Amino acid sequence: MNAPQRASACESLRRLGGRWLPPVVQAAADLLLPPACNFCGRSLERPGSQPLICMECRDAFLAQIGPSCPRCAAPVHPFEVGPDCPRCRKRRYAFHSALALGIYRERLREAVIRMKQRLHEPLTISMGHLLAESMSEAIQQERPDLLVAIPTFWLKRLRRGVNGPDLLAEAIGSTLSIRTARRLLYCRRSTKKQGTLLPVERLRNVRNAFGVRKSYDLADCRVMLVDDIMTTGATASEAARTLRRAGASRVTVLVVARGVGADQRGLGH
Ligand SMILES: [Zn+2]
Ligand SMILES: [Zn+2]
Repeated sequence: MNAPQRASACESLRRLGGRWLPPVVQAAADLLLPPACNFCGRSLERPGSQPLICMECRDAFLAQIGPSCPRCAAPVHPFEVGPDCPRCRKRRYAFHSALALGIYRERLREAVIRMKQRLHEPLTISMGHLLAESMSEAIQQERPDLLVAIPTFWLKRLRRGVNGPDLLAEAIGSTLSIRTARRLLYCRRSTKKQGTLLPVERLRNVRNAFGVRKSYDLADCRVMLVDDIMTTGATASEAARTLRRAGASRVTVLVVARGVGADQRGLGH
């Protein structure tokens, strides 16, 4: 059994344990399949508790946290922190602010690429817990009433399995006790992969791509949109526009990685 398969088996046992089995059985499960880092596969010194990421990987992921633009989450020089930055000054976003764990590069880039695959669902869950733990203050300052994941078109979801941003949102919600609404936002149609398009085409590609299910009342609701990566912000902005038209009073974006360079090609949102 390779590392991702073992992580996947551990996660299944853990989920089963969390819902149905007493802690003693969970401890036995941990003995049977000792938890390992969901990124590098190294055994964990303190098994059993999320995020299941070793100290070395954790340090590498968190090393990127630095001053960022409050509007678009792009990194900025400590002396240049203001209400916006050169990257977003000329852009119109429907969301009010954005937060990111780090920049889409090095180990965080590798993690985001893996999170697109079904085999690495345990990594996605662990990254959600890490994001919530390390950015709890900034997230709580936004006082979100609801976490909403950026949805995937149903056909794509069927092919891929679970939608990664849903897993991220649930992990963040369970860590910080914030409600998640899995089916509130939905994709009305299939869209082209944003990373293959020019910035101006990206806006057109996602225009009117989302809908809000009528059973939800979003009046005066503060929503936090969750995704794995944000590059131009076109997808997040369209999702935010849809939520605000449905009554949301404030929409913030929370992502694992902010794509700001050439490394983002092929994956951008
Ligand atoms: Zn590791
Ligand atoms: Zn900015």
